[in-house]
Amino acid sequence: MISTVAEVSLPVDEVLRIKKRRIMPDDSKSSPKRISIVTGIHGDELEGQYVCFELARRIEENKKCLKGIVDIYPAMNPLGIDSVTRGIPAFDLDMNRIFPGNAEGNMTELLAAKILKDVSGSDVVLDIHASNIYLTEIPQVRINRLHREELVPLAEQSNVDFVWIHEASTVLESTFAYSLNSTGTPCLVVEMGVGMRITKEYGDQLVDGIFNLMHYMGMWTGKTKAPRKTIISEKSEDVCFINAAAGGLFIPDVKHWEKLKKGDRIGRIIDPLSGKVLQNVESPVDGILFTIREYPIVDEGSLIGRLLKKEVMA
Ligand SMILES: [Zn+2]
Repeated sequence: MISTVAEVSLPVDEVLRIKKRRIMPDDSKSSPKRISIVTGIHGDELEGQYVCFELARRIEENKKCLKGIVDIYPAMNPLGIDSVTRGIPAFDLDMNRIFPGNAEGNMTELLAAKILKDVSGSDVVLDIHASNIYLTEIPQVRINRLHREELVPLAEQSNVDFVWIHEASTVLESTFAYSLNSTGTPCLVVEMGVGMRITKEYGDQLVDGIFNLMHYMGMWTGKTKAPRKTIISEKSEDVCFINAAAGGLFIPDVKHWEKLKKGDRIGRIIDPLSGKVLQNVESPVDGILFTIREYPIVDEGSLIGRLLKKEVMA
């Protein structure tokens, strides 16, 4: 069943509609659990779109195993997706900074309020992001320390490689996930892949994880694969940031999720005009690379990658 969650009229005789698809079990019991899969808050992040498709396809294939409600919201920012824009185009606004919204407010505040109302009360929500066009991320869940007790056990089911727990002080209170978590609806923020692309391998990995999560919550009786062992990072010093010392073209030497020794070359920053190597980018510690630069052009200070220190992986 496809329904409209929120709609507002636009100046140019068009209507902005946010839609969802609900998949219900054939034999529904009185109060089934509900999982909501939300994606596309940032219009240039497409990885979650494939997850929506593949999840629904696999549920339909074994529909008798479904014991709960699955709500799929593939396009929270449809104007952004249509125009390959990160924010809400005409408003020049990051949609993940307008929650919880306001039912009496302007168009975007009203949209946010309606979305939040619709998703609230789910037993678990996944808000799937895809980094940005500059960096590619290994499938990971990011959790605010305030909600770690409820969320870590759920994240461990979701078949991601890495759970990154952030300090409460770095939390943005205007995000969709914060609004849900602070009002009692558990929401996992997934970051994976890269903006404007689909990494099918990561999508399949997360879909396996969603089935695990559904199984764990008693919503799926079909076969699942055991989730991979998730590395959990609790402390800010677990993660090491690597930034460019010079502007130029970054040419990587290593792959994503590769284990590195201190001093290993991650890549070079080169100057195509002079033919000079401007910087050999070396790993500052032993660790594993969970973020790597995708877009080659860098300025001084640009993020090249993030490493998880070896000690955390033990
Ligand atoms: Zn995002």
